[in-house]
Amino acid sequence: MNPAIPLDSYRHKGLRKLLIQNLRKKGILEEQVLAAMEKVPRHFFFDSSFLEYAYEDNPFPIGAGQTISQPYTVAFQTQLLQIKKGEKILEIGTGSGYQACILAVLGAKVFTIERQKSLFDKTNKFLPSLGFSSVKTFYGDGYKGLPAFAPYDKMIVTAAAPFIPDPLLDQLKPEGILVIPLGAHDVQTMTTLRKLSDGSFERQEHGAFRFVPMLENRSKGI
Ligand code: SAH
Repeated sequence: MNPAIPLDSYRHKGLRKLLIQNLRKKGILEEQVLAAMEKVPRHFFFDSSFLEYAYEDNPFPIGAGQTISQPYTVAFQTQLLQIKKGEKILEIGTGSGYQACILAVLGAKVFTIERQKSLFDKTNKFLPSLGFSSVKTFYGDGYKGLPAFAPYDKMIVTAAAPFIPDPLLDQLKPEGILVIPLGAHDVQTMTTLRKLSDGSFERQEHGAFRFVPMLENRSKGI
């Protein structure tokens, strides 16, 4: 057994089931999304001293001033993406890597960018050790997207974006969907943009959420 992988006990599995019931009550109805969240042990993405918080429906600090998103938010954004097997997805804001693993369980080919070097270093080693070597992690600035692997079927931004970065729109396939929490202040509006075949965008808003800010440029290797 790999000592780096924490245990997934019956207690954790039980707590996860309760979390899924809770998400259902809060209006998450896509069974595939709920099944993926029941499969991935969220406590693996926490420091071992905080395991008891892993199945509460709350965000939680993961170091470098960042947080793992609230389970409801992960479920909500994932639902909006309407993932189909084999789709190429770009995530901005790897953080703990949890959201990226949920997308991978749904059959997506995930490319994910993180600007904090310490978080990138951690997920770059940790995700393969959990069996998620298909998730490709990058240290970079999500405002620029990831042109080397473009275009993408779908994109998800998991930090509060003050505006929609043009490179993301450029790197989206026709009929592609971008899910992005928009707003420069405390509260953001969850927004989807669908790229139409003529290159224009159809925009929809889905309510208020709170994210840590999307910051420009990579952090300086710390
Ligand atoms: N999806 C994550 C949630 C992370 S919180 C998870 O499942 O745990 C948002 C993350 O976005 C933070 O780690 C933050 O460092 C990162 N971030 C902020 N601005 C960024 C940018 N311009 N490019 C890439 N990552 C960014």
